Amino acid sequence: MLSKRDYYEVLELSQGATIEEIKKAYRKKAIQYHPDKNPGNKEAEEKFKEINEAYEILADPKKRERYDRFGHAGVDPNSGGFGGGAGFGGFEDIFSDIFDMFGGGFSSGRRRNGPAKGSDIQQKLTISFEEAAFGTEKEINVMRYEECDECNGTGAEKNTSRKTCPTCNGTGEIRSQQRTPFGQFVNVRPCERCGGKGTVIEHPCKACNGSGKIRKKVTLKVKVPAGVDSESVISIRGEGEPGTNGGPNGDFYVIIEVKPHKLFKRDGKDLILEFPVTFPQAALGDELVVPTLDGKISYKIPSGTQSGTVFRIKGKGIKHVNSSRMGDLYVKVIVEIPKKLTGEQKKLLQKLASSFDMEGHEQRKSFFENVKDLLGI
Ligand SMILES: [Zn+2]
Ligand SMILES: [Zn+2]
Repeated sequence: MLSKRDYYEVLELSQGATIEEIKKAYRKKAIQYHPDKNPGNKEAEEKFKEINEAYEILADPKKRERYDRFGHAGVDPNSGGFGGGAGFGGFEDIFSDIFDMFGGGFSSGRRRNGPAKGSDIQQKLTISFEEAAFGTEKEINVMRYEECDECNGTGAEKNTSRKTCPTCNGTGEIRSQQRTPFGQFVNVRPCERCGGKGTVIEHPCKACNGSGKIRKKVTLKVKVPAGVDSESVISIRGEGEPGTNGGPNGDFYVIIEVKPHKLFKRDGKDLILEFPVTFPQAALGDELVVPTLDGKISYKIPSGTQSGTVFRIKGKGIKHVNSSRMGDLYVKVIVEIPKKLTGEQKKLLQKLASSFDMEGHEQRKSFFENVKDLLGI
């Protein structure tokens, strides 16, 4: 037998190397001497085997300890055949890393049939402006998968049951051995016949075609808090699609859409109301009866109120969705000029107009002073 090289020497490591250093050194060398990179090169193939053997011992704390104490005699790599089911995670992981690099198909086949959360469901809910402002409770119809009543979710016809999958003998996995230049590997993948469950249905339930689930209309109660707005999202945990293999249900998301109001516009928690007034009301001042979302209030506008002036009425907006704070109501006064006048009204207005001078009209006064400066007239 040829004398074996020291494993640390093979990987160019010191005796105190950490597992990370071992992995790193192995990765580097394995890539360098990989058979795919050195086709037909016997020497590289030997090196590659040597590297793998050294790594198998040094990456396993128990084997490394024996090797450190007894040398090559303490570890016999031929006894177990390295690779397949080696029983320590690092080896398999690092191999799949390397094979991924080479695009190889040796992926270590993790079980893909574990518990999985069900899908989330999103649904729109249209509510009135007032319902958004004050909150409401709504019922919403949802189509989702529910347990099949016929088979109680088993997927098997009444009075029959699932039986052990003949393909995987109930393990849910298919194992196959693969021979490679550097040893034997065990490839594990979920059983396709039973989807990894280990059991199959002999007589599928007719109502659900053996799936155990059936699409049903469900009515959910949705509590809409005061202050929501369009695009607000209300989440109801666990009311989405059912999970698989014991996983949790998905969640249900209600996307709010608020219908517009005939009078009010909304800006967050504030309300905006455009209030048309006549010229005499604006000029003389008046007490306006202002509508709010919950009744009316009177509000005095002063004489000489300009069109477009905005008055703020505190606390008459909408409740903030996440606190008890209230928004405000902004009243924008619009002076409306009549489009039709009676003969009498015309006469009165003409009389009024002839009485106006510049002193009462500040904007006109300053405008014409500027015009005079510009044109000299
Ligand atoms: Zn199976
Ligand atoms: Zn069924």
